[in-house]
Amino acid sequence: MSNLRDGQAGKLVVVSGPSGVGKSTIDHRALAATGAEYSCSVTTRAPRPGEVDGRDYRFVDRTTFETMIADGELLEWAEVFGNYYGTPAGPVEQALRQGRRILLEIDVQGGVQVHERMPDATFVLIVPPSLDALRQRLTGRGTEHDATAQVRLEKAEAELDVARSSGVYTREIVNADLDEAVGELIAIIEE
Ligand code: 5GP
Repeated sequence: MSNLRDGQAGKLVVVSGPSGVGKSTIDHRALAATGAEYSCSVTTRAPRPGEVDGRDYRFVDRTTFETMIADGELLEWAEVFGNYYGTPAGPVEQALRQGRRILLEIDVQGGVQVHERMPDATFVLIVPPSLDALRQRLTGRGTEHDATAQVRLEKAEAELDVARSSGVYTREIVNADLDEAVGELIAIIEE
């Protein structure tokens, strides 16, 4: 989405892709290279080792999250793997009003909701070179039990199907080579 203020164009980039596809790595490198901002989501899932509250996510309990939904504080939200995830609307709206670029890393259900409210945003789908490659990344991650990895793989396949049939994601980046994928996202942010 494009807003003009003080001569600067604001831009909203929504990045989705199945779990394990490498989107966090790509996003963080593209953000560091472009100076665009990361929208910190709110979640009810427990922090993973190394995750920092307020940087990776804002970690809250279900009651707090449900209050945020009821108060209309979320631009979009979804329940993924039994936990709530959502994007606080305020920081996104403020960034766009002020002509800044902001990136959302959210699931496809969330991306479709953002598209309903902000159809001019840029929607990017990051995809694995193959489902076999994704299976290897998911089982090699080491942070999940095998059963969880299997659930994530099934969800990944479904998520790719839903994303592609939604018509929302007009840009696709194949993460076969990390440097190339980062370069493609940088180019999209800077378009
Ligand atoms: P994880 O628990 O691995 O960090 O994230 C699980 C899934 O939730 C990923 O697909 C991630 O993109 C998605 N997700 C993270 N934040 C949000 C959000 O604010 N909204 C939505 N809809 N999905 C999110």
